[in-house]
Amino acid sequence: MSELEQTASRPLSDRLQGGLFRALKGCRDVCLAIPRTALDIALPTLCVSCHAPVAGEGVCAACWAKLSFIAPPFCARLGIPFVYDPGPGFLSMEAIAKPPAYQRARAAVRYDDVARTLVHALKYQDRTDLAPTMGRWMARAGHELLSEADALIPVPLHWRRSWSRRYNQSGALANIISRETRLPVIGNALQRVRPTLQQIGLSKSERALNVQGAFKVPLEKKSSVQGRRIVLVDDVLTSGATVDACARALLRARAAQVDVLVFARVVDTFKPPI
Ligand SMILES: [Zn+2]
Repeated sequence: MSELEQTASRPLSDRLQGGLFRALKGCRDVCLAIPRTALDIALPTLCVSCHAPVAGEGVCAACWAKLSFIAPPFCARLGIPFVYDPGPGFLSMEAIAKPPAYQRARAAVRYDDVARTLVHALKYQDRTDLAPTMGRWMARAGHELLSEADALIPVPLHWRRSWSRRYNQSGALANIISRETRLPVIGNALQRVRPTLQQIGLSKSERALNVQGAFKVPLEKKSSVQGRRIVLVDDVLTSGATVDACARALLRARAAQVDVLVFARVVDTFKPPI
């Protein structure tokens, strides 16, 4: 039977579906052939915060101006911004009263409205296109820490959460910082050994308890951690309980030093007198 006869003998619905498939396939081939720049012109990137068209940087100029980039003066240990410059090496009350297991922490921006939108879009809306911009800002903010480091380690998700969310946003940021600095990322160096609650809504002491002992360095990764200066990478620092628990696990595995670099940190700007 010729191809024409075979086609003619097939039911009409099959023939219509076949035609539709070929039409869609042809359309897809044409779309793939369109240069990326042409698609960008047709579909401009929208600002993640206010949805105004932008030239590919994630946030528009107006929202960028609303971001609070953290710059000196700040606590030499925790990176908490000071309202005036008390002099080099000065520590915040928090750093003196309750020093963390990690050595130093730095953040690109304060965790305010626009920063929250960026973090949520990266974390929950698959906006992986934001990672390069956010990672570059982090590399700049963490320049001092990164210049003294041997390797990067992202804060891991528990496997159940990473399964449902498909990728780890801290890992995406660590990969960008690695590209900027040429520092290696040690993958799977930290494991969550038990599920933890979302830290949102928990008090400071509940947060610490929630993540206490939740991380460990697996046996096969101990040699890649031992004696090395590590920069832990995460998206947000709130109470610091998660990165503190991670730092403890890395120090137990004999890391030489652990610093922390995050995209955004919560900063208490005003504490009313009790
Ligand atoms: Zn905007």
